[in-house]
Amino acid sequence: MIFDGYEAFRAADFAPKACILGSGPAGTTIARKLSAAGIPVVVLEAGSREFSNDSQDFYRGITVGDPYFGLDVARLRFMGGSSNHWAGWCRVLDGLDFAPKAWVPDSGWPIGRADIEPFLPDVRDILDLPAFRPDVPVSDEMRWVQLIKSPAVRFADKFADELDRSRNIAVVLDTYVTELAGDGKRVTGARLWSNGRDAGSLAVDYFIVCTGGLENSRLLLWSNERTNGGVVPNAAALGRYWMEHPTFEGGNAILADYGAFEVDAVNEAFFSPTLSAMERLRILNFGIRLVETPYPGVKRIIADLACVAPDMAEWTSSQLSQNLRCAAQLHVAWEQAPLASNRIELSRTDVDHAGVPRIELHWRKSELERRTLLEGLRLFGATLARKNLGRVRIADWILSGADYPTNQETAGNHHMGGTRMGTDVTTSVVDADCKVHGMDNLYVGGSSVFCTSGQANPTTTITALACRLGEHLGKVIAN
Ligand SMILES: Cc1cc2nc3c(=O)[nH]c(=O)nc-3n(C[C@H](O)[C@H](O)[C@H](O)COP(=O)(O)OP(=O)(O)OC[C@H]3O[C@@H](n4cnc5c(N)ncnc54)[C@H](O)[C@@H]3O)c2cc1C
Repeated sequence: MIFDGYEAFRAADFAPKACILGSGPAGTTIARKLSAAGIPVVVLEAGSREFSNDSQDFYRGITVGDPYFGLDVARLRFMGGSSNHWAGWCRVLDGLDFAPKAWVPDSGWPIGRADIEPFLPDVRDILDLPAFRPDVPVSDEMRWVQLIKSPAVRFADKFADELDRSRNIAVVLDTYVTELAGDGKRVTGARLWSNGRDAGSLAVDYFIVCTGGLENSRLLLWSNERTNGGVVPNAAALGRYWMEHPTFEGGNAILADYGAFEVDAVNEAFFSPTLSAMERLRILNFGIRLVETPYPGVKRIIADLACVAPDMAEWTSSQLSQNLRCAAQLHVAWEQAPLASNRIELSRTDVDHAGVPRIELHWRKSELERRTLLEGLRLFGATLARKNLGRVRIADWILSGADYPTNQETAGNHHMGGTRMGTDVTTSVVDADCKVHGMDNLYVGGSSVFCTSGQANPTTTITALACRLGEHLGKVIAN
C-alpha cells in the first residue's frame, strides 16, 4: 500500500510492528525482507513520488574544509532516494576492506565479507546484476578488478507496484520524521511532519533509520540533543568518521596492446592494489579506471603522441581539425581514512522549514589520501612497465604536490560513516547487527554504518547489508 500522506495512512488502520525511515535502496530492501518474514512494516518517506525543489530544500547544508558538492545536489529526497540518479556502478567491498590495518588508525570492521556474501544472490536480483567475476592478478601487487554497471535500478520504479500491492508494507509519502523520542533504552516514538505541517507522532516496537549517509547522522544528532542522549546513549562517535571517495584524473598511459585487458561496454578496465602492496606502501585502497578511446589509423598515432607530447599533439590535431586526447586516460577513485575529525554537525544558525537544524559537514582529505593517490599511480605505472604492457604519465599536479584541481569530479557522491559499526562505544555507534549501542529497538541501515570506505561504490554493499539486517530483524521481531 502506498499512501500520499500520514492522514490517509492513519485512516487505514494498519498496525505496523516496525517503522523504517526512508525508501531508498536500504529502506526498501529491509521493508521487502520484513514483509517476506510476515512482519507488517510502515515506511515513512519524507518526499513524494516525484522530485520537487521544495523537498530538496530540506537537504541544503554547508561544508567546511575541502570543496564539496552542494548537499542538496549530492542526493535526492523523494521515493527511492538517490537511486533516482545513481550511475549504477556496482562492486562489493573487498575482503581486505573489512580487515584492520596497522597503518590505518580506527580501521577494521566487526564483521567480514563472509558475513554478507550469502546475500549476494539477493543483491544481484535487486540490482539486476550478472555474476561478479573474481579479481585477476596482474602482479603480486596489482589486481584487475571488476565494476559492473547495473541498469541503475530506480528503486521506486522497480518496486512501486509490489509495494502498492503488499499487505505487509505501507509506504507513507510526504512524511518527514523530524526527530525520534527515546529514554536511553528504547525509542518511544517518531515525531512527524506531513504535507507541510506537524502530524503528531507514531509509536511502534522497532525503528530502522535509513535516511541516507548524511541524514542518518543529522536525525540522530538532533534527536539526541532533544532527548538529552535518550536515542544514542553512547554518542562519542555519532556523526564522526565520515568518508567519501575522492575522485580525480590521475594522468594517462600508452598501452603496448590495447587488447591486453578486456574492457567493458564503454571501454573501461579497473585496477586495484593487493593487501601486500597496501601494507608495503602503507597506503589505502584505490581504484584506477583506465578509459580507452579506440582511435583508428593515423588518429591513434596522434593520440599516442598526446600521451607524451601534449602540446605537439594538440597542434598536429588542430591542423587536421581534430580534437584528439591520449587514447588511455586514468581516473582514480580511492579510499579515505576514517578520521573522527571528518564529521557531521548540526548548524547553530540555520534550520529547515520544519525547524530541524541543517547539516554542517566538516570534511578534509588527509596526507594519507594524498600519498595513496601518488603511490597508487606509481605502482600501476611500475606494474605496466615491468610487464611491458605500457607506460604511465602521472598528472603534473600530483607529481608536484600542487593543490587538488577544482574543475574535476572531486568525489563520488558516496556518503559513508557517521554511525559506524563496531564493538567499542567510543569509536562506533551501532553493533555488528546494526543496532544502536545501548538501545533495544533502534537500528540503522545504509552506508553510514561503514567503518571504512574501501574503493568500491557503496550501494552494492548497502544492499547486501540491508538484506542481512532485514533477515536478522525478521527473526528478532518474530520471536
Ligand atoms: C549522482 C550520484 C551518482 C551515484 N552513483 C552511484 C554508483 O554508480 N554506484 C553506487 O554504488 N552508488 C552511487 N551513488 C550513491 C547511491 O545513490 C547511494 O549510495 C544510495 O542511494 C544510498 O541508499 P540509501 O537508501 O542509504 O539512502 P538514500 O538513497 O539517500 O535514501 C534515503 C531516503 O530517505 C528519505 N529521507 C531522508 N530523510 C528522511 C526523514 N527524516 N524521514 C523520512 N524519510 C527521509 C529520502 O527522501 C530518501 O528517499 C550515487 C549517488 C549520486 C548522488
